[in-house]
Amino acid sequence: MDLWYTEEHSKDVRFSIKVNKQIYTKESKFQRIDILESEEFGKILTLDGLIMVTEKDEFIYHEMITHIPMAVNLNIKKVLVIGGGDGGCVRELTRYKTIEEIHMVEIDEEVVKACKEFIPKTACKLNDERVKIFYQDGLRFVRTKENEYDLIIVDSTDPFGPGEGLFTKEFYGNCYKALTEDGILVNQHESDYYTDYANSMKRAHKRIQEIFPVCQIYQAHIPTYPSGHWLFGFASKKFNPLRDFKEEEWNKLNLQTKYYNTKLHRGAFALPNYVNEMMVIN
Ligand code: SAM
Repeated sequence: MDLWYTEEHSKDVRFSIKVNKQIYTKESKFQRIDILESEEFGKILTLDGLIMVTEKDEFIYHEMITHIPMAVNLNIKKVLVIGGGDGGCVRELTRYKTIEEIHMVEIDEEVVKACKEFIPKTACKLNDERVKIFYQDGLRFVRTKENEYDLIIVDSTDPFGPGEGLFTKEFYGNCYKALTEDGILVNQHESDYYTDYANSMKRAHKRIQEIFPVCQIYQAHIPTYPSGHWLFGFASKKFNPLRDFKEEEWNKLNLQTKYYNTKLHRGAFALPNYVNEMMVIN
């Protein structure tokens, strides 16, 4: 009998992947963690029944959430990743020799342990000597920080369960304070398509816009996320993601990427009309 993994993308839409087997399951203090194996997407990490990472399409998310801010400010030295327990963000960041320190604050140590054991494709750089992992709530962690990070990447779960606090105005305000004058905040910004995701996205955008002078949205195609169309937020104290884009310098680094390139960097900020209309604050 065929085995299928199914998740709800809206109350009337379900998304299914044929799987070979379940290779890990655990109810942690914070969430249910599962790792499945499939022909089409390789290994799949789900938290509370929602896909976080698949081996086949994780490169899109992780390249877009890291290389976009890095190509805007190549002097980034100290980075904070909030969430990100699968290690994909950290893996991409470690490719920059100029980054001196990467702090990752992940609420759930069990996610990190499971990914180190079963998904080394994303977790392979978590032992890099520049990486320090804090097992804490990201919301509390940033409260105590001031003028410390050049880049904060919010690689969180959705705005319910443990990730809820990472979409609040208080959190974005503390991120602002934790950033240096050159600081950039990038966050996974949910999707614009199904109503629940779109409402979360609009709320988050409005809150970030009230705090950061620069606040823009960019997009990527991620097949296993709801609707396949995913958004990211780019906010900063001074850098504009297109005007300050260091296209030539980034290309000189010769990083081999599978999704991100400098033409796509420009294109990713050109949003469909219906998304632009959603961003207009009433
Ligand atoms: N790429 C994914 C997505 O958009 O679906 C998210 C990656 S997943 C590894 C996100 C991580 O955020 C999870 O490991 C989860 O434990 C962590 N997380 C959730 N809430 C958190 C919080 N309040 N503080 C720190 N980490 C948190």
